Amino acid sequence: MAINAPEGTRDLLPDEALFWNQFKQTAAEVFGTYGYLPIDTPIMEQTELFVRGIGEATDVVSKEMFTAISGENLRRWVEEGKAPKAKSRLSLRPEGTAGVVRAVVQHDLVPQGAAPAKLMYAGPMFRAERPQKGRQRQFNQVGVECLGAEEPTIDAEAIIMLMRFYEKVGIPRESMRLLLNSMGCEQCRPAYREQVRAYMDAHAGELCETCLTRAEVNPLRAFDCKNPQCAAVMAEAPKITDHLCDDCREHYGAVKALLDGAGVVYEEDYKLVRGLDYYTRTVFEVQVDNGMGSQNAIGGGGRYDKLAEEVGGRATPGLGFALGFERCVLALEAAGVEFPRAQRCDLFVACVDDTVRARAFALVQECRDAGFVTEMDHQKRSLKSQFKLADKLGAARVAVLGPDELDAGEVTLRDMATHTEAKVRLEEVVGEMSRAIL
Ligand code: AMP
Repeated sequence: MAINAPEGTRDLLPDEALFWNQFKQTAAEVFGTYGYLPIDTPIMEQTELFVRGIGEATDVVSKEMFTAISGENLRRWVEEGKAPKAKSRLSLRPEGTAGVVRAVVQHDLVPQGAAPAKLMYAGPMFRAERPQKGRQRQFNQVGVECLGAEEPTIDAEAIIMLMRFYEKVGIPRESMRLLLNSMGCEQCRPAYREQVRAYMDAHAGELCETCLTRAEVNPLRAFDCKNPQCAAVMAEAPKITDHLCDDCREHYGAVKALLDGAGVVYEEDYKLVRGLDYYTRTVFEVQVDNGMGSQNAIGGGGRYDKLAEEVGGRATPGLGFALGFERCVLALEAAGVEFPRAQRCDLFVACVDDTVRARAFALVQECRDAGFVTEMDHQKRSLKSQFKLADKLGAARVAVLGPDELDAGEVTLRDMATHTEAKVRLEEVVGEMSRAIL
């Protein structure tokens, strides 16, 4: 029986893989203008990092992490009951922030008094969720993290940058909704959390089992519950924005004023609590409405001023976001936007017969060395079928080489768009291609 890709994973076939490359390139260009530099951290980290950073009680950590273990350690565990040491307890990263913050702390990238570290990453994340459209077990994210700055200008510029990126990749602005909230800080959130817990206790009879557990562990997660009855109860719950401390209210107000000033349209959503424990103050999410069902968040993030300390570093404010590549592809499809074909073919060299193959092969190399995407036939196709192949590859030009042309030291160069032909000397093909393309 044939073996398929694991459940919840997808192959990015060439068209999509090319788009993924382009997507990362666009991110590097857009985020680069805001001073973000690339960082590449391991796909595995010590499980403890996620437990401490993201929070033990979160869905991501308590239910959705993939453990990574060497075959030998697994054998020892199963056969000899010897659990791996903490250092060897690894998990595949369910998100990118914890690893980047760990790297910033480990390499002291933000020494006291330094300018903020602005970092961006792209790569696969792993969550053992129930797969469905737009929800995979391995998916690709592009994300940024800015560590060392607390000012609301960082929050606002990150949000503006995220929206610029979506527009640059072609997601229509009118199909997106930008949601904004503040989650307060360690000064104001604990008291607010208790108020929500008390409110939930008073409405315990109307809440689902999961929300009753949430009331104990993390009541704010109940705002996320999809059960309509819970949603109705939580709609009347105390709102965080009415319970922010003065500093958080001022910070949130400044972020909104900066976004207003930049003409960025957003909706305040007090229900936006996001699933990870590390968020403080500003949180945001971008959703698209058409055709994506419940998996309609294409990106989101927020501030995490306590995370560096959680993972053992000095107090360093931070903010970041991540966006899902596969969901952006779905959003583009839902909006009827074709993602651009990155593949191009500048020249196809067609052989009239086998006697010219060696010279054609050399010509193909010369053109490639000059930077032109060049292809030839490798299957002994007839001339007619080589033209068909050139068409299929979208070749802009076809150079036909036959024994007569070879004797004369030239090719027939055909422009596939205008159907015009010209004889070009073999040694001038590269020059002619440069002129034509320029
Ligand atoms: P999160 O870290 O949950 O805020 O995720 C950030 C973004 O990654 C989301 O807005 C989605 O676009 C994407 N994402 C998260 N989980 C998945 C998943 N299981 N499958 C596909 N994309 C995901």
